[in-house]
Amino acid sequence: MMINSFKVDSPSVRYAEDAISSTYAYQSTDLQHDADGNWTLKPITTNYHFRTGTRVPKLGVMLVGWGGNNGTTVTAGVLANKLGLTWMTKEGLRKPNYWGSLTQASTCRVGNYRGEEVFAPFSSLLPLVHPNDIIFGGWDISSLNLAEAMERAKVIDFELQRQLAPYMRDMQPLPGVFDPDFIAANQGARADHLVKGSKQAQLDHLRADIREFRESSGAERVVVLWTANTERYSQVSEGLNDTAESFLAAIERGEPEIAPSSLYAAAAVLEGVAFINGSPQNTFVPGLIELALQKGVLIAGDDFKSGQTKIKSVLVDFMVGAGIKPTAIVSYNHLGNNDGMNLSAPQTFRSKEISKSNVVDDVVASNALLYSPGEAPDHTVVIKYVPYVADSKRALDEYSAEIFMGGRQTIVMHNTCEDSLLAAPIILDLAILAELLQRIQVRAEGEEQPRALHPVAALLSYLTKAPLVPDGTPVINALGRQRAMLENVMRACIGLAPDNNMMLEFK
Ligand code: NAD
Repeated sequence: MMINSFKVDSPSVRYAEDAISSTYAYQSTDLQHDADGNWTLKPITTNYHFRTGTRVPKLGVMLVGWGGNNGTTVTAGVLANKLGLTWMTKEGLRKPNYWGSLTQASTCRVGNYRGEEVFAPFSSLLPLVHPNDIIFGGWDISSLNLAEAMERAKVIDFELQRQLAPYMRDMQPLPGVFDPDFIAANQGARADHLVKGSKQAQLDHLRADIREFRESSGAERVVVLWTANTERYSQVSEGLNDTAESFLAAIERGEPEIAPSSLYAAAAVLEGVAFINGSPQNTFVPGLIELALQKGVLIAGDDFKSGQTKIKSVLVDFMVGAGIKPTAIVSYNHLGNNDGMNLSAPQTFRSKEISKSNVVDDVVASNALLYSPGEAPDHTVVIKYVPYVADSKRALDEYSAEIFMGGRQTIVMHNTCEDSLLAAPIILDLAILAELLQRIQVRAEGEEQPRALHPVAALLSYLTKAPLVPDGTPVINALGRQRAMLENVMRACIGLAPDNNMMLEFK
């Protein structure tokens, strides 16, 4: 059973005109051990005060790579939803939806009523921006307008493209900051729409673009999101990008190792605008992270968690949680879109390989009964460019595992799906949740003043392959845990207990 909206009735929750305040008793465990290695676990309770602004701002989203497959697909999808367009295919009439979006198409269990479980839309937990209300803008190094770029992407059904083209023809990406050294040489052909000048001049240009977008669109809150090509890793070194100061100085000197993605991120942070990295490269060099911390600006990444990795972070979590030992994971991909063409160069492929590889680390580390120290499954990732399949990516995975009494288990999976149709709802979730997190203030017991959440938004881990987390904090990859982290923090903001699945009332 589903309810569409609700109010929480509790002495620890207060609904005011512009905010919901809650006091939440967070139960955790304090761990101690003595000199002999005897451990003691002490349950502790810490009170947290949350205040969530309930006025939903007008949200502007600037996409870097707006004219790409993801950029055009998300724009087309939102327009089709907003305009209520329908289109015929050989399977019949199609209607727009937001399936694949955590915030728009998933539910949360809020309790039981007369023996039946009751669910509410995820979006009913706290007030969220609706995707139909997002204003899109952004940059691309290719000069095609969004209607032409949508046609190039070959993702949206033809009849819907025909209806959308009049709306998207006037959407023109701003010129992009391009450095051929950071993406594959095969991308040079589309780079006809560029910001010229030194690195500093490019940074200033991007900052002016953000200000101008804010003014012309009337957006009260802006999020910048990188959905442009995967870049190679940039070198991190002392005096170059290890501190905020050295990073900004390196831009001023025009150091060649400053990647375009880091320039866009710096522009956003300096304009006080959240920046999200949807690709795997190390945009967030230490100096940039320090800059975001200094300015208190939300940053999140890296690399959308859309298909193969999502399944991996569920399957390996299930196996290890069941006491089964995965010993080899081999993942093949082939795809024929521009992303695939860019990833056919070794240095950009390497970025993807890294972000796809670490996804089982936390799960393996959770079970020393199966894995001895330093041991991990063999993990191989292969990506091949096959133009014919276009955006319809194929992912083939083989999981080998050891089971009871020396037995072996092999699971093989084949997934076919349009990559951009998986990524587009994730882009929306990232922008919508990044906006929400900036409306939450928190004060833990012992802290004097309420503060914003930590600028490095680990709460968005569910949506990213290689979650960026604050220094010295654990990275969670297991999908169920990532979802629970986000949902439970949102529940705490309205004074609801985490969904602990105990269902004691029935026992
Ligand atoms: P795409 O190649 O179709 O789009 C990227 C766009 O970025 C292109 O239009 C290109 O011209 C533009 N671009 C490149 N460099 C730029 C720059 N410096 N400034 C402005 N624009 C620039 O690729 P896509 O399929 O849309 O994917 C985008 C990114 O998302 C890729 O890095 C991909 O690896 C990542 N990603 C995608 C998925 C998915 O499921 N689709 C999942 C995870 C990550």
